[in-house]
Amino acid sequence: MPRITVKIDPSACILAANCVGMEPQLFQIGEASHVELIDANCVSHGTAYTFEATGAELELAEEAAESCPTRAITVERG
Ligand code: SF4
Repeated sequence: MPRITVKIDPSACILAANCVGMEPQLFQIGEASHVELIDANCVSHGTAYTFEATGAELELAEEAAESCPTRAITVERG
């Protein structure tokens, strides 16, 4: 499984929630003024989360990044 890091740029996120709609098991709207990244146990990792992703999880994360209207999400491999 590829190791990936998903990051949110808090200054760019406008809480449009496209990402939450696409992948609610990774993106969550909490108390902050930007979206947060969560793990499988719904524990928040703030604006950067590194994990071993399945192919499907990687695909969803990349699709969510492409869906973000402000390009606030980045997905890095390795
Ligand atoms: S889609 Fe982009 S702007 Fe909308 S909540 Fe997600 S990161 Fe923020």
